Amino acid sequence: MRAYLDHAATTPLLACAREAMLDALDTTGNASSLHTAGRVARRRLEEARESIAADLGVTPSEVVLTAGGTEADNLAVKGLWWGRTAERPQRRRVLASRVEHHAVLDPVHWLGEHEGAEVVWLDVDALGRVDAEQVAAELARPGEVALVTVMWANNEVGTVQPIEAIAAACAQADVPLHVDGVQALGSIPVDAGLPTTLAVSAHKLGGPMGVGALLARRSAPLAALTHGGGQERQVRSGTADVPGIAGFAAALHETLVDLPERSPRLASLRDELLGGIAALAPDAIVNGALGGLDARLPGNAHVSFPGCEGDALLMLLDAAGVDVSTGSACTAGVPEPSHVLLAMGIDPILARSSLRMTLGHSSTRADVDALLGALPEVLERARRAGQVRVSPRLAAAVRDGG
Ligand code: PLP
Repeated sequence: MRAYLDHAATTPLLACAREAMLDALDTTGNASSLHTAGRVARRRLEEARESIAADLGVTPSEVVLTAGGTEADNLAVKGLWWGRTAERPQRRRVLASRVEHHAVLDPVHWLGEHEGAEVVWLDVDALGRVDAEQVAAELARPGEVALVTVMWANNEVGTVQPIEAIAAACAQADVPLHVDGVQALGSIPVDAGLPTTLAVSAHKLGGPMGVGALLARRSAPLAALTHGGGQERQVRSGTADVPGIAGFAAALHETLVDLPERSPRLASLRDELLGGIAALAPDAIVNGALGGLDARLPGNAHVSFPGCEGDALLMLLDAAGVDVSTGSACTAGVPEPSHVLLAMGIDPILARSSLRMTLGHSSTRADVDALLGALPEVLERARRAGQVRVSPRLAAAVRDGG
């Protein structure tokens, strides 16, 4: 049996989601058709939307269904930008945290390069936390702000952001706030009423891949990114994936019902994992915030192992039957340290020596034991394999303070 410790990448489909999807797969109609078959599909779609809305405490018309988290983030970032600048072209500033997922980071960069957005990158502290006071200070500076975007919880180190305080600062300045809630929803309590828009994804909480939603207040000035049949409040045209959405609604409901029991269970399993790693590798360093559900996602463990290459650790653990992640990206064939760890001020070599291990609904003590059982030999072999090398370009950038 393999041990799966990569639930932040995707978590297994829940039985209730599979059942709901199988049931809906036999529905023939297109939810936009007017005949009886179409109306049956439409009823399933609207029931799923109502269930998602009720579970998240929003109204059904605030649920814009998408093909996943990346699409929801793009719709929010670019849609709010175009909506807000159409209202007032002077709104050129975009405030974004440095630790966003690429689904937000890349659209923000794109707006800077192609639309003349003036991007203000919000710093994080050594634990990966945005300072709500910095957000308030930036909002008070001259220059009108089109939107602010800060994720609820980080996908690499699990750090939870002070969203309530950031939402209060944005409300005070009357500027829309987009929050990427893809990792937070289903892991910690999420108040969907706080941000203007909230991106969520089904496959991170036991639903199918390729389904998600942008929860968008009716007043959110969202421009459409896809044009066509005018579905989803005219901002996201395209035939609805009724079976996928039915699976999403079922998974979300069960996940939220189970959250009060599951989150502390995963947090204590994660702490056992970290305790075991500390005993086996006393020089290992835990990255990100420690503490309760308001500080760190309960299933997240992120650790640097000095002297080891993260990719080597991943491959050796894979060969030993344990699935984990490094979180680092490859640029031109050279693995680069993660932008999240660099923003936290972590040394690039140490950043490249890191592993992300994430637990989820199907995790058990046996998964933790499998990792801890394999780790001593994996560490020894990875240390022998050698030290991390960093590309000359990155070394120069770090030297120059870039
Ligand atoms: N945002 C965060 C924080 C994520 O972790 C991910 C997926 O890893 C996404 C967005 C993208 O979601 P999806 O895989 O549904 O496109």
